[in-house]
Amino acid sequence: MKYIDEFHDPELARRLLDDIHATAVTGPWALMEVCGGQTHSIIRHGIDQLLPDTVELIHGPGCPVCVTPLEMIDKALEIASRPDVIFCSFGDMLRVPGTGRDLFRVRSEGGDVRVVYSPMDALELARRHPEKEVVFFGIGFETTAPANAMTVHEALRLGVRNFSLLVSHVRVPPAVEAIMGAPDCRVQAFLAAGHVCSVMGTREYPPLAERHKAPIVVTGFEPLDILEGVRRAVRQLERGEHRVENAYARAVREEGNPVALRMIEEVFEVADRAWRGIGVIPGSGWRLAEAFWEYDAERRFDVESMHTAEPTMCRSGEVLQGLIKPHECEAFGVACTPRTPLGATMVSSEGACAAYYLYRRLDAPARRPATAQEATTVG
Ligand code: SF4
Repeated sequence: MKYIDEFHDPELARRLLDDIHATAVTGPWALMEVCGGQTHSIIRHGIDQLLPDTVELIHGPGCPVCVTPLEMIDKALEIASRPDVIFCSFGDMLRVPGTGRDLFRVRSEGGDVRVVYSPMDALELARRHPEKEVVFFGIGFETTAPANAMTVHEALRLGVRNFSLLVSHVRVPPAVEAIMGAPDCRVQAFLAAGHVCSVMGTREYPPLAERHKAPIVVTGFEPLDILEGVRRAVRQLERGEHRVENAYARAVREEGNPVALRMIEEVFEVADRAWRGIGVIPGSGWRLAEAFWEYDAERRFDVESMHTAEPTMCRSGEVLQGLIKPHECEAFGVACTPRTPLGATMVSSEGACAAYYLYRRLDAPARRPATAQEATTVG
């Protein structure tokens, strides 16, 4: 299949791996892949296990379902429980546990909760059901923001007043800033998410790379994409460089997608956002701009002041910041499984805990060698 098979070629993968092994002569190096889709690709194909012992991949916070805070799930549950509401969401969100229940439970209790494949489907529902309030759960990173913005824009243009958006949008660069600024940060380089950069471009990243002296390589999602991203990041680290490189040029341009960017700028404005298990990161999200406030579900249903404390048992905040691997959580695979998830990182198809469970990474990791020299003498 075009654009799939050629990025799975085992011979090319072998050559890239040989190059990485030949390049990673010092270290140890810790690289963070930002996106949950990249994490799944890495774990599924065992890429992390093929790298030199001196190159570690740390999984980042780029799973949209995982970072949606518990408080926002509880707001969704509250709105979806109302008898006059049709609550629409992508499928992953239905199983994410809120406080005591999830959207599936609300549906089983009589709530009208529907899975849609696009926010425009929700807008169409609002047009067909003028007697109902239709709410779309607008979560995600820069990748989903343009479609959600366009839907609100369309609702205003068409005069559809019984539609609203529950907004929980987050932005990658402030999260990278927060991770790099943390005192216990081990990350030395980033594999930036290619799909995010296809929308936003790469212009936000050079100041981050410069400030934290960290290479940032825009990377795709197939095995060869990931290996090429790792190869370029390791090469920079070995040379003492910290530039932004685009290893996903077939989809990403420096200026991004101007049409999508214009739509985001018109409908949203930058705001502080809470990230599940991490807390509030300044300027890390979007909310509806003033001209679109009437489409803000939090205002319409008066749930702005709802606050919920995060549960202490789930360590997804540490997983999302790369401080622990999923199987280092005591609940992993015991109290917490995809059937009995305690946190969103076990629910989402992009969650790191789900990836480790799905691909049977069940044992806690052995200690990593502290130096390249130790790596060559261990075992
Ligand atoms: S294994 Fe479960 S409890 Fe532990 S961090 Fe992951 S989602 Fe949370």
